[in-house]
Amino acid sequence: MRPSSKEGFDGSLPSSHDALLSLPGIGPYTAAAVSSIAFGQASACVDGNIRRVMARQHRMTEPSNKEVQSWADEQLVRQRPGDWNQALMELGATICTPKKPQCHLCPVKSSCLGRETATNYPKAKKTKVKEITLWTCVEFDDAGNPVIHQRKQNGLFGGLWGPQLYEGKKPDKTGDYVFVGIVSHKLSHRAMTVHVFVSTQQSRKRGRNPSDLALSVLDKKIIGLIRESSDGYIPDAKS
Ligand code: SF4
Repeated sequence: MRPSSKEGFDGSLPSSHDALLSLPGIGPYTAAAVSSIAFGQASACVDGNIRRVMARQHRMTEPSNKEVQSWADEQLVRQRPGDWNQALMELGATICTPKKPQCHLCPVKSSCLGRETATNYPKAKKTKVKEITLWTCVEFDDAGNPVIHQRKQNGLFGGLWGPQLYEGKKPDKTGDYVFVGIVSHKLSHRAMTVHVFVSTQQSRKRGRNPSDLALSVLDKKIIGLIRESSDGYIPDAKS
């Protein structure tokens, strides 16, 4: 039987779309791109470029993700899925561009309903960006490794490792913590400001070496800030 994501796939990158999707930090786009380009699997990619080509081909102002995915699935050339996905993304990136599409050069202009008024499609998405204030109080063990945990699969940064994040106000923690700085991080719909504290006491819990684990960019920034700013509080990490 094929090893599951919990069993680590025997240390090999899986080739199927669904197995790739089960890995922390891999979303639908990456799963489709890797499975089709690296392994020749019939998975259709959807990114912003492909969404734009689809919307213009059908004169749609607000195609849903489902509609775009279903269009991409229908168009996929199953004999050469990797080449097809790359060609479609390249078409959107170089010919069917957001502001100045070059329809006279387009290889699919004959089927395009929106070519006369291309820039009307799709309508620009208005993204509401939510501002979030977070706090973190990080402990390090005697080997200089931070105490981090794996986040739940269905939450923010699902499956990735990082220190505990608290929303709203600084947690009521016992022990001595010093403030080391603020980390800012933006996602498409969230702007996060993290107040970072580090414990001046060695943790009795076991830390983990971040370079052995999958961390989000935000968590890497937090650990990086602490390492740069907390000389004297953190023992050197043993390799
Ligand atoms: S004809 Fe123009 S609008 Fe239509 S897909 Fe090609 S570049 Fe885009």
